[in-house]
Amino acid sequence: MASSSQGAGHRAARRRGSGARRVVVALVLLAVVAAVVGLVREARSSGPPPTVAAAVPSSNSVAPSSSAPPTTSTPAPPTTPPAEPTFDRAQQSIDDPNSPWVVVDKARPLAPLDHAPADLVDIGGRQLRAEAAQAMRDMIAAAAAQGLTISVLSAYRSYDYQVDTFRNQVARFGEERAEIQVARPGYSEHQTGLAADVGGGGCDIESCFATTAEGQWVAAHGAEFGYVVRYPDGAQDVTGYKYEPWHVRYVGVPLATELQRTGTRTLEEFFGLPAAPGYPG
Ligand SMILES: [Zn+2]
Repeated sequence: MASSSQGAGHRAARRRGSGARRVVVALVLLAVVAAVVGLVREARSSGPPPTVAAAVPSSNSVAPSSSAPPTTSTPAPPTTPPAEPTFDRAQQSIDDPNSPWVVVDKARPLAPLDHAPADLVDIGGRQLRAEAAQAMRDMIAAAAAQGLTISVLSAYRSYDYQVDTFRNQVARFGEERAEIQVARPGYSEHQTGLAADVGGGGCDIESCFATTAEGQWVAAHGAEFGYVVRYPDGAQDVTGYKYEPWHVRYVGVPLATELQRTGTRTLEEFFGLPAAPGYPG
């Protein structure tokens, strides 16, 4: 048993020896970890400043030459002084019926007259162009979050549909009144797939919509979703239509918010187009 006790002593010594080695190894490891952590911290703390420093000169160098198109990617800090980029009113077509900025009125028919959009999608049993439909869904959801119920009562109307509607209105009310109430085929914003008639608050496609919480919310917040009230109060001499608080037109968020920011009532005035109180000729 001596050998075994000797062996036990050796093992104990080895254990003591390996225990000491382990402590050393652990200390070395700790030192390495601490060094790595220190390096990472250093890298982190010294990381951001160069990027910021690099970003500042580049934006400064861009600012003086205002010919460059305005970049919308970086949100400007609220403290930025008035050096806001001028809104480029030519960045989208106002003539192309596929453009979100297309201006259609009694002097500016769609070209071709029987134009039909290619990307119509369903929205509550009606149709809008895909982008306008998504914006409408977002707007309806945001209103719902405020306890307001907005519904789409009319949206895309085809050339053929407008032919029938116009004919019916003329038959019922005569041509003069029909032309105030319903657009001629090829002259309706509804044919672009970017316009909708909305209702809520117990008032559908009537002037009372302006007095409902829903109508007031749409007028105030529609721009956040790219929608404007296209035929505002007191602008019939420009748009050719009496006040229609229910008729909203998708133009995209940048243009809608610019119209709101500048207090511009109509697309005609914003783009410097002639007033279109009636059909020419
Ligand atoms: Zn309408």
